[in-house]
Amino acid sequence: MYLESANKPGWIEVICGSMFSGKTEELIRRMRRAVFANQRVEIFKPQIDVRYSVDEVVSHNSNSIPSTPVDSSAQISLLATEVDVVGIDEAQFFDEGIVEVCMDLANRGIRVIVAGLDMDYLGKPFGPMPALMARAEHVDKVHAICVRCGNIAQHSHRLTQNDNLVVLGEKDTYEPICRHCFNRLRAEEEVAAAAAE
Ligand code: ZN
Repeated sequence: MYLESANKPGWIEVICGSMFSGKTEELIRRMRRAVFANQRVEIFKPQIDVRYSVDEVVSHNSNSIPSTPVDSSAQISLLATEVDVVGIDEAQFFDEGIVEVCMDLANRGIRVIVAGLDMDYLGKPFGPMPALMARAEHVDKVHAICVRCGNIAQHSHRLTQNDNLVVLGEKDTYEPICRHCFNRLRAEEEVAAAAAE
């Protein structure tokens, strides 16, 4: 998609959006194209995300591609040798060092494709994603559909009561919702919380 302008390789692409927006599908699609082009690819994901498979990136529609789980962003620098394209999934869960790692890889001539949630369940920018988006050459925001009204969805609404920032889950834990449904639900939760005090 961006290869045609590559006189000198090495840049960062970010694919961001809510849960169920197709981020991982898009990451896999781009990685597959690179494989077809005989490029050497490597995908990394945080150790934390082992929902379906330890050594594969698996999207919600069960597309998969081999990947390497890592504990920290520093490991990516060590492991990403002899590659043309580095994919990083669930980037929001990485430490802030992921930003420098991606910059370094791109500066070395590697195409870096980063997928991640841009907002947490409270609607706040998630971990290193804002800094990655600022430094990327290309940013694509993909959208789910609001399960409550059919608008374009950009929020990941948590269906269970849990204040931890990181709660891994699926359709029983999160639903994609739009700005207006998010605002309404947050207001309802505040009223319920005030009544419970
Ligand atoms: Zn809605």
